[in-house]
Amino acid sequence: MRVRLFLLTAVFGLVTLLACQEKDQNKEAGYIVQVSLGDWHSPDYTAEQIIGRIDTVSQMIPVKKVIIGWSQNKDIYQKLGTYLHEKDIKMLLWLPVFAETDEVCKNRPAVDLWGKVPDSFDPAAGEGFRFNCPCDPQNIANVVAVYDSLFSDCGFDGVFLDRIRTQSFVGDISGALTCCCQLCVDRFAKEGIDIQAVKDEKVAKGDAFFSASGYSPANGLIFENRVAAKFFRAKGYIVSSAVAAIADSLHQRGLEVGMDLFAPIIAPFVGQDYAILTQHADFIKPMLYRKTYAPAGIGYEYDLIRKSAPGATGYPDLKMGDAFLHSQLQAMERFKCEKYPGIEVNYREDIVPTSPEYISESLDAVLSHQFNGATLSWNIMEAPLSNLKSLFRK
Ligand SMILES: [Zn+2]
Repeated sequence: MRVRLFLLTAVFGLVTLLACQEKDQNKEAGYIVQVSLGDWHSPDYTAEQIIGRIDTVSQMIPVKKVIIGWSQNKDIYQKLGTYLHEKDIKMLLWLPVFAETDEVCKNRPAVDLWGKVPDSFDPAAGEGFRFNCPCDPQNIANVVAVYDSLFSDCGFDGVFLDRIRTQSFVGDISGALTCCCQLCVDRFAKEGIDIQAVKDEKVAKGDAFFSASGYSPANGLIFENRVAAKFFRAKGYIVSSAVAAIADSLHQRGLEVGMDLFAPIIAPFVGQDYAILTQHADFIKPMLYRKTYAPAGIGYEYDLIRKSAPGATGYPDLKMGDAFLHSQLQAMERFKCEKYPGIEVNYREDIVPTSPEYISESLDAVLSHQFNGATLSWNIMEAPLSNLKSLFRK
């Protein structure tokens, strides 16, 4: 009798412990907040304005990190850093890697299969969006040098790497078929890919080069054409290995490293291999933007694939609803590093028509996967109060 009572107590204790752990996991969901200061010049906001906004948001949710960049005004980071560190919040520099750095360093641009720089346009930024070669050692060294020379004395706890990819179908098919400069041709050869054979196959097959033979959330889109499949696999390895080298250099400086990723379904087109990148990141922020009609918006990018290669078959007609969001979250479950999927909270009528309902639905989905939390993208300063109110969780 006494033994049975002991067992019963032990089982009850274990169940209570597990329930508490699950509750703790829920309770510990943290948030990362992004502050976009504009370009390399004068910041769009003052330190006081940013502190005021972070203060408001912190009263609604536990803010763990702030990603901010990339103005060269050091004063703003030093003031903000003092405030954040008092509150035990980390400050990370938002640093673009393979695009947008031309004002601060000289880079070799990426070129397509035919040796041309793809057209590029970012309607959100309203400016050219040229990408650089991911293989050029100088381009890679430039990124770390930009941190060292411009930001190393600003009090940052880490760096958030953005633009860690090639151009997408925003630059038509040409954008996805980068980089094929001579350096990259040699690099592809080391991975067993003959770029001339890829070019011949693309010319012979036309749009069908991009056809898919299947899709599943776990495995993504499967290329029907074997040459295309091998090209994109090797591109993922080459681009992601370059990003890994940059991340490792920043880690050596004692910095935390976060990464901005395309959603799993479109990541392979831009050279983002989750399996490689997640081994070199402290955390990832997959951009699960379903209401962004600009680069990195999932529906926007997916539609561009189909518009750029209308003869390609096998692309399912994806609806950007709740079920699709869960499919993308499931696709990243198996990767080990910390995950803070990004949800847009800012609002612009033509480019980011978000709503409180959209934010609530998205955060409910993200938090239900028991990751580390969520990132409020892509600019908390442009989030209307009605959107912010939807951050209160039940
Ligand atoms: Zn190249």
